[in-house]
Amino acid sequence: MAKRKYSSKINKIRSFALALIFAGFIVMYGGIFFRNSPVVMTIFMLFGLLFIIASTIVYFWIGMLSTRTVQVTCPNCGRHTKMLGRVDICMYCDEPLTLDPALEGQAFDENYNRKGQQKNNADS
Ligand SMILES: [Zn+2]
Repeated sequence: MAKRKYSSKINKIRSFALALIFAGFIVMYGGIFFRNSPVVMTIFMLFGLLFIIASTIVYFWIGMLSTRTVQVTCPNCGRHTKMLGRVDICMYCDEPLTLDPALEGQAFDENYNRKGQQKNNADS
């Protein structure tokens, strides 16, 4: 499976939450193999539950983030997509989007969203 370099942030978080749910079920399922020892099985079940709780929190977080997204019309595919931060990717066609006119036309770089983390060689 070819992995995309970038995908929309919301999609990324959503697939992370989905992965957590799957991990939770796999861990819980793994507990069945230890049904001879109730302690180990309980630990597995609790861990599985923990994953599922974590994914619920992540889903909740997506909901919170969604209120801060900006709805834009993608210039490439013409569909309405949500973007988060100064730069993001169209959810449908992977077109890089920016809200900052200064960054328009520049190569897409997720680092634009991080403040103060860029390497600064100016003050040496
Ligand atoms: Zn698009």
